[in-house]
Amino acid sequence: MYIDYDVADKIATISLNRPEAANAQNTELLDELDAAWTRAAEDPEVAVIVLRANGKHFSAGHDIKGGGPVPDKITLEFIYQHESRRYLDYTLRWRNVPKPSIAAVQGRCISGGLLLCWPCDLILAADDALFSDPVALMGIGGVEYHGHTWELGARKAKEVLFTGRALTAEEAERTGMVNRVVPRDELDSQTRALAEHIAKMPSFALRQAKRAVNQTLDVQGFYAAIQSVFDIHQTGHGNAMSVSGWPVLVNMDEMKANIK
Ligand code: ZN
Repeated sequence: MYIDYDVADKIATISLNRPEAANAQNTELLDELDAAWTRAAEDPEVAVIVLRANGKHFSAGHDIKGGGPVPDKITLEFIYQHESRRYLDYTLRWRNVPKPSIAAVQGRCISGGLLLCWPCDLILAADDALFSDPVALMGIGGVEYHGHTWELGARKAKEVLFTGRALTAEEAERTGMVNRVVPRDELDSQTRALAEHIAKMPSFALRQAKRAVNQTLDVQGFYAAIQSVFDIHQTGHGNAMSVSGWPVLVNMDEMKANIK
């Protein structure tokens, strides 16, 4: 079990529970996480959903070695199928759950980690949180779900993607990606207090407020952009495979040196 699930006081708390691997996302973790979101969405006793992570880091991203059964010959069709389900459809589904959700992020939130916190309606960041998407170092233009431009604005999005560097919690708050930065040891208590406040609000009003904001973004092109940039992402895998026979161009030493 890579996910802890708990309901109390109308708040469902979903906890990533693979701290020994910095909550890197293997297939099982993502499938369990999707099941937890569905459970919270369908439970009439749940008014607000909190997504948090056990351990020092929120999530180190996709576990490249944890993709489940891999065919003898990896094709772009296989990658596309795997990623469209877990890195696109899951994230969009969580975004559109008709209940408010809050992500509590501490430590590293790298690439695929963004695909877990971005779909939440609100994000609280601990003062030690660092957000990054250094996949250019693997020959890819950005992680599968292109929240970057929407969350950071065009210039910061390009800076983060071009350099691979991490945004601090304060920087993320300035771009509007994060609602509030809180001391690390108050992350859970402040998240809880916010969730309790929202849980007391009328549920249909919350549902419609969320729909109003998400629908506005969709009318502005959010949904269409997310779909088309997913396909741009796949050209990165296609190029890496044509160059090296593997879906990413991995130079782990360079990667580690650049994401310090
Ligand atoms: Zn990918």
